[in-house]
Amino acid sequence: EAFADMASTPRHPRYYTRYGNPVHERVIKIMSELEGTETALVTGSGMGAIATTLLSLVRAGDHVIAQNRHYMSTAKIMDEMLPRFGVEVTVVEQADTAAFEEAIRPNTKLIMVETPANPTLVVTDLEAVVKLAKSRGILVVCDNTFASPINQRPHDYGVDVVVHSATKYLGGHHDLTAGVICTSNELAEQIWQTHLSLGSVLSPMDAWLLLRGLRTLPMRMKQINANALALAEFLENQPQVEKVFYPGLPSHPQHELAKRQMKGFGAVIAFSIKGGYEETRRFVSSLKISRHAVSLGGVDSLVVHTAAMWAGTMTEEQMRTSGIQPNFVRFSTGIEHIEDLKADVKQALQSI
Ligand code: PLP
Repeated sequence: EAFADMASTPRHPRYYTRYGNPVHERVIKIMSELEGTETALVTGSGMGAIATTLLSLVRAGDHVIAQNRHYMSTAKIMDEMLPRFGVEVTVVEQADTAAFEEAIRPNTKLIMVETPANPTLVVTDLEAVVKLAKSRGILVVCDNTFASPINQRPHDYGVDVVVHSATKYLGGHHDLTAGVICTSNELAEQIWQTHLSLGSVLSPMDAWLLLRGLRTLPMRMKQINANALALAEFLENQPQVEKVFYPGLPSHPQHELAKRQMKGFGAVIAFSIKGGYEETRRFVSSLKISRHAVSLGGVDSLVVHTAAMWAGTMTEEQMRTSGIQPNFVRFSTGIEHIEDLKADVKQALQSI
C-alpha cells in the first residue's frame, strides 16, 4: 500500500529520482520562498527548465510572443523548435512594451520574457507586460537568470512561471548545471508531467551543491552587485573604453525602469573597447584575475571576447552580419576585492 501510494503521488520525493527526490525537495522549498511562488521544480540545466516549461504550456495552433534577445538556445526553441510543432512565434523588441501589445492575437497563449538580456542588458518592463497578458488570459514566463531572486522577483508582478539557469548565481561556484521552475501548484503539476517524459533530471549531487550555493546567495549577490556597479562606473571613466552597458548606470537607456523593478543590477557588464578586434583581444588576454569562460554569476570574475569566441567558426563578415561587434566584451563580476578587479582592468586597458 505504501509503495502504491508513492507510485501514484505526483512529485513524491522517495519513489524515483526523475519523479522527485529528498534533496530536490529542499531546493524546491528554498526557491519557492525566494521567488514567492507556491512551489518549484528542479531540472538538470537551465535549458531543461525552459524547454520543459515551454513544451508543457503550448500546443499546435497556439501563438507565442518572444523577445528579439533571448539566451541563444531559448531563441532556437522560438525560431526552430516551436514552429516545427505548429506553434507560431512572433519576436518583438523587448524595450518597446507597445510591440508586445501589437503582437497579441486571439490564439496567443504565452509571452516569454528575459530581463536583463544579453548582450547589451536590455530590460523588459515586467509590470506592463503582465498587465497586457492578464487581461487576456495569456501566461507569462520569465527567465530571471540574469537578475536572481535577490535582485528581481517577477512573480511579485504577476509572472506565472519564473525560470532559472541555476548553473549561474544560484549555484554560484562554477561547479554544477541545474535549472529551476518556480510557479503555482497547478502549473507545476502540468509541467512535471512533461518533465517525466523529457527527463531533464537534476542529479541529487548537483542538487546538494546547489543547496550549498543557496546558503550564501544573499551575501554573494550583495558583493557582486556592489563590485559590478563600482567596476561599471570605473570603466565608464577609462579613456580606452568606448561604451559601457549596465542597467545600474544612469547612462543605461532604461536605468529608471531597472531601478523600479530591480533591487540590484547583477554581475554582467558589457562594454566596448576603443579600437577593433586586435585591441580587444589584447585587453582580454592581459587580464590576470578574470578567467576566459562563458558562464556568469559565480564567485570568480569571468570574461568573454565574443568575437574571439566565434573566430574559429565564423568569418569576420559573418560576425558583422550577425551583429557580433569585434570590440565587444562581456564581463561577469565575481566576489573578489573591488580594488584588485579595478587594478587588473586598468593594467589590461593600458596594455592595449
Ligand atoms: N538562460 C540564460 C539567461 C542563460 O544565460 C543560460 C546559460 O547561459 C541559460 C538560460 C541556459 O542555462 P544552462 O546552461 O544551465 O542550461
